[in-house]
Amino acid sequence: MSLSDRDLKVLWHPYTQMKTAKSPIGIVRGEGVWLYDEEGNGYLDAISSWWVNTMGHSHPHIAKKVSEQLNTLEHVLFAGFTHPKAVELAERLLKVLPKNQSRIFLSDNGSTAVEVAIKMALQFWSNKGEKKNKIIAFQGAYHGDTFGAMSVSGRGAFVAPFESLLFDVEFIDVPIPGNEDISLSQLTELIEREKDNLAAFIYEPLIQGASGMIMYNPEGLDPLLSICQSNDILTIADEVMTGFGRTGKYFASEYMTVDPDIVCMSKGITGGTMALGATSSSEEIYDAFYADDKLKMFFHGHSYTANPVACSAACASLDLYDDKETWVAVERIGEQHQKFAKRLSKFKNIKDIRQRGTIIAIELNTDEGTSYFNPIRDNIYDFFIERKIILRPLGNVIYILPPYCISNSELDIVYEGIIELLESLNN
Ligand SMILES: *Cc1c(COP(=O)(O)O)cnc(C)c1O
Repeated sequence: MSLSDRDLKVLWHPYTQMKTAKSPIGIVRGEGVWLYDEEGNGYLDAISSWWVNTMGHSHPHIAKKVSEQLNTLEHVLFAGFTHPKAVELAERLLKVLPKNQSRIFLSDNGSTAVEVAIKMALQFWSNKGEKKNKIIAFQGAYHGDTFGAMSVSGRGAFVAPFESLLFDVEFIDVPIPGNEDISLSQLTELIEREKDNLAAFIYEPLIQGASGMIMYNPEGLDPLLSICQSNDILTIADEVMTGFGRTGKYFASEYMTVDPDIVCMSKGITGGTMALGATSSSEEIYDAFYADDKLKMFFHGHSYTANPVACSAACASLDLYDDKETWVAVERIGEQHQKFAKRLSKFKNIKDIRQRGTIIAIELNTDEGTSYFNPIRDNIYDFFIERKIILRPLGNVIYILPPYCISNSELDIVYEGIIELLESLNN
């Protein structure tokens, strides 16, 4: 029996309608941007396996460090104990995070990194004896799938079955180009109305990923962050997708003049090798928990907090960022994307092209309008799978978000595939 047949008997896949989805493709090996199935077919992973893989599959340096760690110390509880890789990782992250960040709290994934950030912000105010408990978020945001993360995410199909149990959040519009003033006035009005109640503002800096690679500029976000800062509203940058070079800098927050109070990280943190989440905070936040009173400690933790194997994968991945070549590649991918965008100008069925750093998104004009459930999605997905290219459009938005090891000729394979698709749609 093939891997996919055995899978279909026992597994349940994420974000998949098991009845109508095609059988999953069994992948047995990965190298660089390529994933190989049981028959030896290579698939070009143009979306970094759900945005996690920054360094290419089975990266030899990360593999070596992980294997060494497995033979040294696989896990130790993280309350009352510590270990070299957690200390090293925290020291190194703080060197590259925005300057005001001073503490690292570890967990297992992006949703928990967000969950930790929300709880940290709320307990910060509680520890200070203030009754602030409202969170501000952007319309259409995606911050993860746990209840807190769903609550601060945009209201839509993903959260509809759970909506009655989500906590109340104040949503403002995303400051997409041309809309900056609207977002700003919504925030100002909100502060006038709710001032003493607003605990924190959470946002995906510069790119809202899951809602369709919506992009906006630092000039749109900066004023919102300054207003929060001057009104005692904590700012939480969800860098789960944008972190670790995706936008051309280590963190998208570097494009801003105001530093966030809290930063959420995951996805690319281990180069795409192990599950790990991290939430960093400023010293001011940490101070509100630092007390003789046990009731002021941060009430959060996971059994696998700071898993040494995951921390060593993250340290190994950081080694690769210390190599200039990684940043040369990030810049090269951005330039290739820009050249590709110019070639697309002749296509009438494109509604918008957006690009920042290593991400390019192409929004197609369709009768159904822009939506995750746009029926064109499955056709596009299949079109690329037939050509052995992994692209998972968000509805009618096709995007490329590749591992940084992708070569120009590998990028061309993806570009040519997209052009072929656009030409076929034109007919
Ligand atoms: C993917 C993502 C999350 C959730 O991360 P998981 O590891 O999938 O739980 C949170 N925030 C953003 C911005 C993301 O892109």
